[in-house]
Amino acid sequence: MKTIIILADGAADEPIAQLGNKTPLQAAKKPYIDMLAAKGKSGELDTIPAGFKPGSEIANLSVLGYDVPKVFEGRGSLEAASMGVDILPGEMAMRCNLICIEDGKIKNHSAGHISSEEAAELIQFLDSKLNDGKVSFYPGVSYRHLLKLKGGNKNLDCTPPHDVTGTPFSEVLIKAETSEARESADYLNEIILKSQELLKDHPVNLKRISEGKDPANSIWPWSPGYRPQMQTLQELYGIKSGSVISAVDLIMGIGVYAGLKLIHVKGATGLYDTNYEGKAQAAIDALKNDDFVYLHIEASDEAGHEGDYALKTKTIEYLDNRVVKTIYEATKDWDEPITIAILPDHPTPCALKTHTNKPIPFLIYRSDEAGDAVQVYDEFESPKGAYGLIRGNEFMKTLFGKI
Ligand SMILES: [Zn+2]
Repeated sequence: MKTIIILADGAADEPIAQLGNKTPLQAAKKPYIDMLAAKGKSGELDTIPAGFKPGSEIANLSVLGYDVPKVFEGRGSLEAASMGVDILPGEMAMRCNLICIEDGKIKNHSAGHISSEEAAELIQFLDSKLNDGKVSFYPGVSYRHLLKLKGGNKNLDCTPPHDVTGTPFSEVLIKAETSEARESADYLNEIILKSQELLKDHPVNLKRISEGKDPANSIWPWSPGYRPQMQTLQELYGIKSGSVISAVDLIMGIGVYAGLKLIHVKGATGLYDTNYEGKAQAAIDALKNDDFVYLHIEASDEAGHEGDYALKTKTIEYLDNRVVKTIYEATKDWDEPITIAILPDHPTPCALKTHTNKPIPFLIYRSDEAGDAVQVYDEFESPKGAYGLIRGNEFMKTLFGKI
């Protein structure tokens, strides 16, 4: 049996008046996805455990069959794995944004979507000035970087910067949740202030300002954690060999801990202009050798964050005729049976421009098994399917016949 999960990030939504009170999944023309729903079985999946925010890291860990409260150690430590940075025992990792502060307020969480090249120069500069053997910095993609703190205590109340644009930064500095964490909180807040001194006159920022762009004039560390203790998918579900295909460091990092091979596809952007054909072909090639492929496509989430329902509908149509169709047609005559699962990780409703924690619709098509009565794939029909409502790691158990 070959198994592929096609993860359409943030694809679920709410009915939208301009789409005739349909969701983008209902409005999109998606004959192949609907055919798989008709031939397969459907259900809905609750991906966000109680007490967690509906982040992609939480939702994708759930979909991949992890017990999130047990294994979650923050975004930084997951992204570190994709960046090739090891988190050692005794070290704490944090996502470290480069942000723009104006008049003491957080203007944006991305320093105006700074380029990776400019950001790398700034992060290396900060590391040369602030690395005292305790703290260290590693450059990532655009505004997303990594900070490691030796001896750091993760019991910190940190604010994701994208949640507090317009807020004075001094009101949302890091707070200790326990007395043992106070030293870490004080140290990190001091580093934030020092970064502001160091970055304000840096040539990269002076050039950005002269070009009318936002300067990257502060770091913003958040989502602290230690080295995750995650079993591989081989250990958990008996998957002999698997691969992950994504444009996003976070998903690739989860793949590293899950024991999956990372496949980088040229032109995979994480946006609607991504190389759909290249990703579909990479998935087909991987399935020839591997038992399992996790194919993650970010575009529908980004369209949701932009509140662009027309673009979101189009990303679902692209998914149907440039990914699902290609994979189905290429594998349908293989000797070995194939299972294709399609689902998002969480909804990203266009009206809210952010994630929600509602259960998401899923379908599982097995070439050697009859389907249920559900004929199309969307937020209203899929929940009526044979699987009903399942939670967290029950999805992988269902997919691999463990329950
Ligand atoms: Zn997501």
